[in-house]
Amino acid sequence: MSKRVALVTGSTSGIGLAIAHKFAEMNYCVALNSFEPAESHAALIDELDVLGTGEIVYFPADLANAPASRALAEAVIAHFGHIDVLVNNAGIQKVAPIEDFPDEDWRRIVAVSLDSAFHAIRASLPGMTARGWGRIINIASAHGLRASPFKSAYVATKHAVVGLTKTVALEAAEKGVTVNAICPGYVWTPLVAKQVADQARVHGLTEDEVIRQVILAPQPTKQFVQPEEIAEMAAYLCSDWARSITGSTISIDGGWTAK
Ligand code: NAD
Repeated sequence: MSKRVALVTGSTSGIGLAIAHKFAEMNYCVALNSFEPAESHAALIDELDVLGTGEIVYFPADLANAPASRALAEAVIAHFGHIDVLVNNAGIQKVAPIEDFPDEDWRRIVAVSLDSAFHAIRASLPGMTARGWGRIINIASAHGLRASPFKSAYVATKHAVVGLTKTVALEAAEKGVTVNAICPGYVWTPLVAKQVADQARVHGLTEDEVIRQVILAPQPTKQFVQPEEIAEMAAYLCSDWARSITGSTISIDGGWTAK
């Protein structure tokens, strides 16, 4: 049997990188992606290459130009012959009151997280259903289930990603393909580190105060989730024991959405 092939969008940092690591350890062939040129990530490819026996390839694509994700999936299929696992992970954030929310940031957030997932799914799903096995994992957020102020584009986009997940799950249900959304609470990654600075400005607090009073306030454990916890869930969803989990939102949020 040929090796499993996984495309993980936005996989040079944070959660996407942890998932790519895990898949490499599972001997998957892994298609890495971000918007930077390949030269920027040569060391990363070497790091993942030694973890398992699958081929690790980096595919640059700027998903702010959403149809680029269709071209990305097509390039991965052209290289490996197929995609078994698609992880729509790329995401960005902007914290600002709705009255001041820049049009360009709204457009970019929707393109990177939502439009690109739609295009990548359209390009990947037919091959999965033709082979009778596939896994689509959308990295949504606790903000796909709950709102917070000053994050209009992010919250709207992540709720939409949850809707997209459920819809595609129903369409693929009889074809061996599962489609799920993982909904993390706060995970300590560069995306959150940047948000701490933005939130400090919006709320007029120090960065330490933002972490204690704003960021970890809704997370009952008062601890950041680790990227590896998300990666372990992604690996489980790819196992045959997870074949009946589809159309689900899986919260890994320290109890946030229990409230
Ligand atoms: P991160 O900033 O550490 O990594 C984001 C990745 O996406 C990077 O590899 C970056 O290069 C890539 N990326 C950004 N813009 C891109 C573009 N235009 N084209 C292609 N790639 C692009 O972020 P993270 O915290 O690991 O977030 C990953 C996902 O998890 C996002 O969808 C985010 O919304 C979601 N999430 C994160 C948290 C958290 O607390 N960190 C919580 C819930 C959900």
